[in-house]
Amino acid sequence: MFRSARLKLTAWYVLMIMLVSIFFSAAIYRGVGREFERRFANIETRLRGQGFQPPPPPFGRVQFFEDIQSARQRVFVLLTSANGVILVLATGAGYVLAGRTLAPIEKAMEEQKRFVSDASHELRTPLTALKTSIEVGLRDKKMTLKEVRALVKSNLEEVESLRELTNHLLELSRYQANGRQLVFKQFRLDQLGREALETVRPLATQKKITLKLKAKKETAEIEKESLLRLLVILLDNAVKYTPRGGSIFLSLIQKPRELKVVVKDTGVGVAKKDLPHIFERFYRVDQSRSRQKVAGYGLGLSVAKEIIELYHGDIKVDSVLGKGSVFTVQLPQKS
Ligand code: ADP
Repeated sequence: MFRSARLKLTAWYVLMIMLVSIFFSAAIYRGVGREFERRFANIETRLRGQGFQPPPPPFGRVQFFEDIQSARQRVFVLLTSANGVILVLATGAGYVLAGRTLAPIEKAMEEQKRFVSDASHELRTPLTALKTSIEVGLRDKKMTLKEVRALVKSNLEEVESLRELTNHLLELSRYQANGRQLVFKQFRLDQLGREALETVRPLATQKKITLKLKAKKETAEIEKESLLRLLVILLDNAVKYTPRGGSIFLSLIQKPRELKVVVKDTGVGVAKKDLPHIFERFYRVDQSRSRQKVAGYGLGLSVAKEIIELYHGDIKVDSVLGKGSVFTVQLPQKS
């Protein structure tokens, strides 16, 4: 598909270049022809002024005329050869240029294809499990009420996890950089921090994890919904990947030109080899301690990255396996 698109684009580039080149060649040809005529007429007038009588035809005006014609022909041959060279060069350059123009589009389409296939796979697996368990339940006539309840409960958990997956997928498209404009307002950082922590408090309390906040009663120019979502994603991960009794620290600091957000935990940490990949869609660290025990689809940090890109910000991760992680986000602010 991209090969034929590349050839088509090359043809368009060549057509445009050749149209411009032929237009200028025609202009040059006309201009040069007129100039020849003018010059020859001047020479003739000057010679007559000096008393020189041009020989009678066929050597007089006819000779002049023939000279002009042959000079014109030479210009024509020269311009045609130049256009031939331009055609060859334009074809080569056009092909290279078309390749370069289409390369990022091809890459984006490849990514999109991979994303759709990954998403379909992630959706199909729990749906198949759900279907099988319902079918088995329907066939089993001797099921007790307790067993039915357990089946419905486990199905409900699957449905909840599917809902989480579809929410993440929707968020990914919503926060994609070119699809959304941020509406900034002044907002109190301490309030934002508290609101974010309240969202993860139930799970943190269940795991006896301490939550700490450092934020002054100062304001920052932010879009509340997206920034709150970013904080919740980072905090949610911190709670998920921190064992019982650990602690999580959130700090929101307004600097002269940026808002600095730090989420620090005493969790399982991320191995060095995984660090460059954790922001990729559907990437989950393939270790029993995180993958099997903790629910997730590997989309949270991708959504976080999209939000940070909307702010033209940056995120860094420092992590020590078995000790914990520090996620530092820098969001530029209008000074
Ligand atoms: P999910 O948490 O749903 O798996 P994410 O995109 O949020 O997906 O995270 C990707 C991976 O990065 C996780 O599977 C996990 O292994 C790792 N990770 C993210 N945050 C932390 C953290 N605070 N501590 C340890 N590992 C983390």
